[in-house]
Amino acid sequence: MTTVRTRFAPSPTGYLHVGGVRTALFAWLIARQNHGQFILRLEDTDQQREFKGAKEHLIKSLQALGLDYDEGPDKGGPFAPYIQSERLEIYQQWAQKLIQNGRAYVDPYSTSEVQAFRQQASLAKKPFLFREHRPDLGAAWDGTKPLRFKSDPKAYSWHDAVMGDLSSKPEAIDDFILIKSDGFPTYNFAHIVDDAEMQISHVMRGQEFLPSTPNYLNLYEALGLDRPILATLPHILGPDGKKKLSKRDGAKDVLEYLELGYLVESLISFIATLGWNDGTTQEIFSREELVEKFSLKRVGKAGAQFDERRLNWINGNLIRSMDIHKLYQSAENYWPESARGATESYKKAILVLVQDRLKYFSELSDLTAFFFEDLPVKPELIAQHKQLSSLDHVLLKQLLSSTKASLQESDFSVEDITKRLNDLLSATKQKPVVLFSLIRIATTQSPASPGLAESLSVLGRAKVLDRIQQQIDSL
Ligand code: GLU
Repeated sequence: MTTVRTRFAPSPTGYLHVGGVRTALFAWLIARQNHGQFILRLEDTDQQREFKGAKEHLIKSLQALGLDYDEGPDKGGPFAPYIQSERLEIYQQWAQKLIQNGRAYVDPYSTSEVQAFRQQASLAKKPFLFREHRPDLGAAWDGTKPLRFKSDPKAYSWHDAVMGDLSSKPEAIDDFILIKSDGFPTYNFAHIVDDAEMQISHVMRGQEFLPSTPNYLNLYEALGLDRPILATLPHILGPDGKKKLSKRDGAKDVLEYLELGYLVESLISFIATLGWNDGTTQEIFSREELVEKFSLKRVGKAGAQFDERRLNWINGNLIRSMDIHKLYQSAENYWPESARGATESYKKAILVLVQDRLKYFSELSDLTAFFFEDLPVKPELIAQHKQLSSLDHVLLKQLLSSTKASLQESDFSVEDITKRLNDLLSATKQKPVVLFSLIRIATTQSPASPGLAESLSVLGRAKVLDRIQQQIDSL
């Protein structure tokens, strides 16, 4: 069996988005499960579309996700260089082979002339195929004009590891450009040369390349190459499940997700299950499980739906399953400013309280600020509260005073506070939604908080009594 060698071949035209990560992840998984190699190759032949900083960003993103590659631009390897703009000579050599075999020719037409052909075809309601314009094939190529492939249009049937058995008609093939007039190869040519040179066994890429695949099959033949295993990944669709995912759907760049405090493991599980499942309803997988279970056969042909709520669900689950030490470490950079100087045990006690509510770690700051600082009284919390807003301030003051009097006697254990809060309910004949909301607002300045008795116990007597008094004074 030949060695499995997969590659991720992004163009540095923007940041790494979810679709790109999925392609990289699937290629990485296939390499790792077969003890093969995973290669990073930068496809920067479209210099106009290049985006400053994109190369560094791509590398940083792959590293952050733990998608380590065995060969690549910053790593080297037996087929270096791994940046296409540094491989121009190699494409020239392969182009010369095609010229010698009569399978490439100089395109004498200017851009506007090609545009005119395109218009004619469109007026005649025919697809535009660049193969009816072949000039004299003998012209020498001096590199100032585009070099075109002399195709051999025919029908193809082939197998795609995801899409299954596919076929195409001769009309799908035309004389596409191999090398542009600026001396750079097109993607269509360069990736075929590089995949062959780099001995790639599996080509995994997005659905947008499917219409061009017959051209690639034709070129493999012209070059006498065995074709690699082709695996076409379906589009990622927006949350409505209809349109292709776009920035407007809220899909962020991966580093942004990590900065927001999503766990790498969650992103990997979420992205792996964008179109793949293991035959069960499992959605959270460890990396080892993915390496073991992943299979291109179980990647769906239809578009995969991107829904950030599913990512939140996965991440929340993983946060809940953490022990306190792991939780403490993961939360380290997300505390509010005012937490500086707080003890480890105080922070851990708080983490235990919020663990069930956290979807991602950057929520921690707002959720816990009240534990570290006395927030100013916000009158709108009572004014906007469904039940509290209609109550007389004298009554609210009385309720708070009774609470204060009772808590003054408490040892501030959760059990004792719970008992006292329940006793207060019967004594004041109020519903929890009234009394507990009022106490919560007074002590946290927020309409929602972790369990009330637990929060009060962690806050401690001095802060709780003080804050209740401040609320009384404001009424
Ligand atoms: N450079 C292409 C892109 O970024 C890669 C396609 C491929 O993987 O062959 O879309």
